[in-house]
Parts: sequence; C-alpha cells; structure tokens
Amino acid sequence: MKHKFFNGTARLAAVLVFCILFSLFGSCFAVFAATQQELQQQLDAAKEAYDDAAQKQEDLEKQAEQTQEQIGELNDRTEQITAQLSSVYSALVDAQTQLDAAQGEADAAQAALEQKQAEYDTRWDEAKEQLAAMQMLHYSGSLSILSQVTDLFQLLNFARALTDINDKNTEVLTRLNDEAAALEETRNQAQAAAEKAEAARDELQTQQENLQATSDQLAQALMEANANLDEQQAEAEAQAQITEEAKKAYQQATAELDAFAKSQNSKYTSATLYCSLDFGCALTPGMSISCNFGDPDGIDGSPHGGTDFPAAKGTPIYAVADGVVSAARAMSSYGNCVQISHGTADDGNNYATLYAHMSSIAVSEGQTVTKGQVIGYVGNTGAVSGKNGGYHLHLELRINGTRTNAMNYIPH
Ligand SMILES: [Zn+2]
Repeated sequence: MKHKFFNGTARLAAVLVFCILFSLFGSCFAVFAATQQELQQQLDAAKEAYDDAAQKQEDLEKQAEQTQEQIGELNDRTEQITAQLSSVYSALVDAQTQLDAAQGEADAAQAALEQKQAEYDTRWDEAKEQLAAMQMLHYSGSLSILSQVTDLFQLLNFARALTDINDKNTEVLTRLNDEAAALEETRNQAQAAAEKAEAARDELQTQQENLQATSDQLAQALMEANANLDEQQAEAEAQAQITEEAKKAYQQATAELDAFAKSQNSKYTSATLYCSLDFGCALTPGMSISCNFGDPDGIDGSPHGGTDFPAAKGTPIYAVADGVVSAARAMSSYGNCVQISHGTADDGNNYATLYAHMSSIAVSEGQTVTKGQVIGYVGNTGAVSGKNGGYHLHLELRINGTRTNAMNYIPH
C-alpha cells in the first residue's frame, strides 16, 4: 500500500514536473519562435516597402528625365523656328525694299508718261492752230498774198515755208507719240515687277505668320513641360525622402537580425572554446569572388558585410575551423544560414563565421563541428540577386561580434 502510495505520489510528482518542464520549455520555445518569426516578418516587410519606394522613385526620376528630354527637343525646335523666323524676316525686309523700288520705278514711269502726254497734247494743239491758220490763208488770204508775190522765187519760198511747218509738226508729233508709247511700256513693266514683288512679300508674310504660330505653340508646350518637370521633380524628391525612410527601416530590421545573430553567438561561446586561427577554405580552394567585403551590395548599396563566392547549387560548404553551431536556420535576408562560434584565440578576440543563402543546412544548432566538415550546400535562399540564379555563398567573419573582411584571415 505504502509502496503503492509512494509509487502513486512519485508518478504524480513526475507528471507535475513534466508538466512544469513542458510548459516552461514550450513557452520559452514559443517566445523564441515568435521573436524570430517577428524579426523575419519585420525584415521582409521593411525590405518590400523599401523595394516599392525605390521602384516608385526610379519611375518618377525616369519620368522627370523623359520630360527633360522633351524640353530639350522643344528647345531645339524653338531654336530652329527662331532661326527660320529670323531669315524670313530679313527676306521680308528685302522683298519690301524690292517692292518699294519697283513701285518707285512704276510711279516715275507713270509721271514721265503723263508729262510726255501733256507735251504731246500741247504740241497737237499748236499743230492744229497752225493748220487752221494755213487753211484760212489758203481760202481767203492766200490769193491776196499770192497777188503780192512778184516772182517765182518768192512763190516757191512761200509754198516751201508752209510745207516745212507741216513736216516739222508731223515729225515732232510722231516722235512724241513714239516716246509716249515707250514710256507706257516702261510703266507697264515696272507695274508688273511691283505686282510680283508684292506677291513675294505677301507669301513671306504668310510664312512669317505660320512660323510665329508654331513658335507660340512651342512656347506654350515648353511652359507646360517646365511646369510638369517642376511637379515631377518635387514628387521625385518627396519620394526620395520616403525611400530614404524605408531604407532606414530596412537597415534597422537588418541590424536587429544582426543583433540576434550576435546574441546567438555569445550564447554558444564558452571559456573553453578555443580558436586556433588556423582557418581552412569554406568551399573548394580557388573559387572566384563576385562581391568583396565593403563593396556596395546589390540590395540597398550599403557596404557588403561579407564576401560572395558564386558556385553551382548544391556545392558543399565547409566549416572554416572547429567550433559550435550557434545558429542553423532560415534568417530572412540570409536565407538558410549557419553560424559557427569558434571561440577565443590567443589574441584575446572572439571569432565566429556565418554562411548564408544555403539551399540546405547539414548541421543543427548546438552541434560541435570540426574544420572541413560539411555544414550545408550552396543555394540562393534569402535576399539574393545576380547572374545564374544568384547561387552563391555569402561568408562573414565576425571578430568580437563585428563583421570583418574574412579574406584577411580565411583562404579561398
Ligand atoms: Zn553577400
């Protein structure tokens, strides 16, 4: 009974202890898992917001660039039109000068013609009077004159004088008539030239009006494009602010993940964990580097925290030194990631390495590993970009928790 009772009590106690342990462990695990998950969600959301903001900013900047190009084209076109306007204007001045000259000539010819006609008319009147006088002489006065003529010589002289007057009148009137005809021809030619010059001037005026209209349209388009550009540039600037804030949020989330990796490392570093500083290669020796430590990374342009080695998917990754696995899990931007605490070296510094973007992890947290042991395989999990699917190993060396250029310590 007693034994049985003891057994029962012991069983009850064991169940109680188990329950307490389970609840403690369970809740710890839950809290830990929640924190880890939260960090990842935070980082993912921050990364997405940052990418969106950066994309929008790029779009806005591109738009502003296009508007600037448009303004350049409009300016070129305006320059062309202004040059055309200027040449049409000087052509117009020339045309007007020609027109004025032609009109001057036509006017002068007209005046000369009128003068010649007046001269002709005067002469015509004189001739008519002389003819009338001669007729009078012939019918009434000539007999008495003839009766006074005493010899043939006088008679012939008288007849010749009459004939001479008539011939002279005919000659002068014919000449004046010819001159008037020539002047009329000159005036007609000058008038035709003036009409031609006027048509040319009118054509140039139409050209000038059209060019001026185009110039006005261009000026309007330029004004609108400049206003658009101002607006777009202001928008791009505002977006740059948003992008900057998103970038900060992303960097903050990255820093929190980093702090988590650090805390994991210190958790597994003990006084007995000794680092010999005799590092081996993380991959087969002779691998090339696609991104060095400190170079701007492909994500937000901040200095790269590790060294990237492009390699085919599934290439084995080795522990560079003995140590304890302080993290072996998916860590957001790192993707599938292993962190090894190597302990403290003779120089008093603490060393840890981190291997990111694995396709799969071959060790578990808390496990002791030796130099050269396969800890995982090359992949492209987490935040990666680049050629051939972005498959690469991202290797970090942390000395006292601070990222350091691994290539100063680790061969490759
Ligand atoms: Zn990297």
